[in-house]
Formats: sequence, C-alpha cells, structure tokens
Amino acid sequence: MVLAGVMAGSAQADVQVLTTIKPLQLIATAITDGVSQPDVLLAPGTSPHDYAMKPSDRRKLESAGLVVWVGPELEAFLSKPLAGVDARHVLNLADALGIAPAGAAHEDHDHDEHADHHDEADHDKHADHDDDEGEEHHHHAYDPHIWTGPEQGLAIAEQLSQRLSTLDPDHAAQYQANLSRFQAAVADADKQLVALLQPVAKQGYYVFHDGYGYFEKHYQLNHLGEFTLNPERKPGARHLAEIRATLEQGKARCVFAEPQFVPAVIDAITDGLQIRRGTLDPLATAIPVSANGYPAFLTDLGQQFASCLQ
Ligand SMILES: [Zn+2]
Repeated sequence: MVLAGVMAGSAQADVQVLTTIKPLQLIATAITDGVSQPDVLLAPGTSPHDYAMKPSDRRKLESAGLVVWVGPELEAFLSKPLAGVDARHVLNLADALGIAPAGAAHEDHDHDEHADHHDEADHDKHADHDDDEGEEHHHHAYDPHIWTGPEQGLAIAEQLSQRLSTLDPDHAAQYQANLSRFQAAVADADKQLVALLQPVAKQGYYVFHDGYGYFEKHYQLNHLGEFTLNPERKPGARHLAEIRATLEQGKARCVFAEPQFVPAVIDAITDGLQIRRGTLDPLATAIPVSANGYPAFLTDLGQQFASCLQ
C-alpha cells in the first residue's frame, strides 16, 4: 500500500502544505515525509505577533494546498486573507485542538475575558497594559503557543495526518505511518525531558514573553512571570520594578531572553544581581528542517531550560 502510494504520487496529487511558523513546518515535515516538502510563511526567527503580510506571502497562500495556522490569536494578519479560502484547504489548529473558546469569534474578545483569566499576581501587569494598549491584546483569549507542548504537538500531527489523508487519499497510508513514527519520536524525547527537567522543576525563573505555557505545564516548571505579554511592546516600568524586587529577594534562579528580541531590558533589570541568564527560542530558529525537527526542538528547549536552572 505504502509503496503503491509513493510510486503513484504525481505532482498534482500531492498537497503543498504551507505553515505560518517554523515549529509547525517541522511537525508537517514529519507527517509529509516521503510525499512532499512543507513550506513556511514567516522567515525563521520572525515573530508572528503583529506580523504584517507581504505581497509574496499572498502568492504563497494562493498556491498552497493546505494552509496550517494556529488561529487569529497568534496570526492576526491571516484572518482577512483566509476568510475567503475554502475551509478544506485551511487547518486552524486552535479550533481543531479545541483550545479556542467555543463560539468566541476573535472580534468580540474584549476586556471581560481578562477578569476571570488571571490571578492576583497579574493585576498590575494588566493595569499597565490597559492604560496604553487599546486593542493589542494578542495573548488573552487563549494561549496560542500550542507547539511548545508535547501533547499539543502530537495532537497537531494527528490533525495534519487526518486532513492530508482526506485531501490526498493516495498517500493516506504514508501519512499514517509517518504519524506513528512521529509519535514514537516525541514519546522518546518526552521521556528524556522528564528525566532532564524533574531535578530543576522547583527552580523559579522569568521568561521574556509568555510563550511557553504548554511546555511549562507539561514539565511542571516553576514559571514566576514574564517581562511582557506582547513581545512587540516594551514592558511597563512598574512591572519591571516588581520583577527587580523579586530578583533582589533571590526568588529566581534564572532569567530567559529570546533571540528575536533585544535583551537590553534584561541587562538593566539584572544589573548587579547574581542571577543566571539563559535564552529560549520558541520559534526553533536553529533547528534544521527535517522529519526529526520537532522532537529536536522540544529537546533543545528543554536543554535551554535545564542548563540555566541547574
Ligand atoms: Zn508569543
């Protein structure tokens, strides 16, 4: 069956997959292994928060057989371009994984959601944001960084395998076999990550932006807070003063920057303190595109956490 499918695979039968960001491209590359090569819309390392479409992006969207995105909470720039596209050729992962709030259209996400979404510690941060941010609340309706969690990564792969099998039934057996291989590889990486991260799970830390929630929850890490909710905006002065006070009390082991953003604010806030510095890359910038890229990304992320927290 698999062989027959591969040999019959002609150019027109194949579905050209286009993902928004590289971590999704890595998952898609595993599922389409031996069938096709998924493309990616955003250049590696480009943050999807507040991205603006280019004319070449529009051409890529029009020629794709399947567009894979997280949803309007992460890639707001795609809401309009995808509105007129046949739903069979679009995979909205937040919807498919049941992460987007049921029935909540992106347009009506407003300040009411915030009240029941955050605990006491978040209040000041919100005050800062609400003063000057207006509509730019990209992180609040749900956490869109779904690719950082191994369980979510597996669910994304399952959705991809199903959809591709529908669009390209000739290769259904291949997509299924690729999914099984992917599941085994992620399970293996996960097992090693549990062993790696368990000894440092109690060490407190700050991240630059709140982009690792699914990973942190899965490995039960001790996230104390973040510098900013929206990485395209500078953190508020009051919020930074609070972080500084926490750091001075010695409550955090490490502060993590990201390669996408200038760490001047982190330099300033850790100045004169004995605190470790690390870098987390939520966009898999340095990971080679291959069928093994996604478990390699998870492993890399876990090692970045572990080396700073140990
Ligand atoms: Zn983010």
